[in-house]
Amino acid sequence: MQIDDKVTKLMKIALVTGGSRGIGKAVSIALAREGFRVLINYISNEEAARVTLNQIIEEGGQAELLAFDVSKQEEVERAIGDWKSRNPEQYIHTLVNNAGIRKDNLLVFMPSDDWFNVLNTNLNSFYYSSRALIQDMIVNKGGRIVNIVSLSGIKGMPGQTNYSAAKGGVIAATKALAQEVGRKKITVNAVAPGFIKTDMTVDLDEKEYKRLIPMNRFGTAEEVADVVAFLVSEKASYITGEVISVNGGLHT
Ligand code: NAP
Repeated sequence: MQIDDKVTKLMKIALVTGGSRGIGKAVSIALAREGFRVLINYISNEEAARVTLNQIIEEGGQAELLAFDVSKQEEVERAIGDWKSRNPEQYIHTLVNNAGIRKDNLLVFMPSDDWFNVLNTNLNSFYYSSRALIQDMIVNKGGRIVNIVSLSGIKGMPGQTNYSAAKGGVIAATKALAQEVGRKKITVNAVAPGFIKTDMTVDLDEKEYKRLIPMNRFGTAEEVADVVAFLVSEKASYITGEVISVNGGLHT
């Protein structure tokens, strides 16, 4: 075995859903800098996913692409199952459930597709990916799950009943799962961003919304990623079941 192969085998592996763009991209890069081999998940934007992958490799890190739709259980299980059969001696130590969508509308006008797509992508995806990986974390007596939720899931936001319900559901699931697996040295936490500059918020006028934010600006994806990197590190080994807000003081 080459020395490089040995190093690769010793590296912890992290799966970042929605790692191609925005917060997930920044998380993928931050975790690679912390020494993780990163599995960058995306649904359709392979070009963006390759940009993330190339940046990690140019910096001397390790990563690979793993495309699947987080909202479809069969796809999640197939992609993760295939990865496991290609890597029988390794396990995915860290899962960042980040992929998400918004489809905002007042409930009175909300088509059922927008309700179910948001629930499937933001909430059911938590079950599909976590369920596919938690047993390996238990067997290996160690792991990290970080769920990217939202201020919307803490306080509820008008025009986002679907998104608030999904993120609020993930927050409750975070607290429940943390209690199930704490004895196995697995921590489960959530990070709740406020307004962060990404493709998801390009339709929001920062000038208008920043007045609501004590720090008077939108946050960056990197500011969220730094918190995720801390939570998956050994330094955060006694923090579990928590929701950490990254919102410039925009409290509930
Ligand atoms: P973004 O820039 O729109 O990026 C979304 C990412 O999710 C992309 O990588 C996309 O992949 C992926 N994705 C979407 N649907 C998917 C699916 N069904 N299966 C797999 N991947 C999927 O979003 P973001 O702003 O970075 O948001 C990331 C997370 O933070 C989300 O959970 C969001 O709800 C949460 N959040 C964001 C903000 C904010 O202000 N931006 C605030 C609070 C919470 P492709 O590139 O292939 O499309």
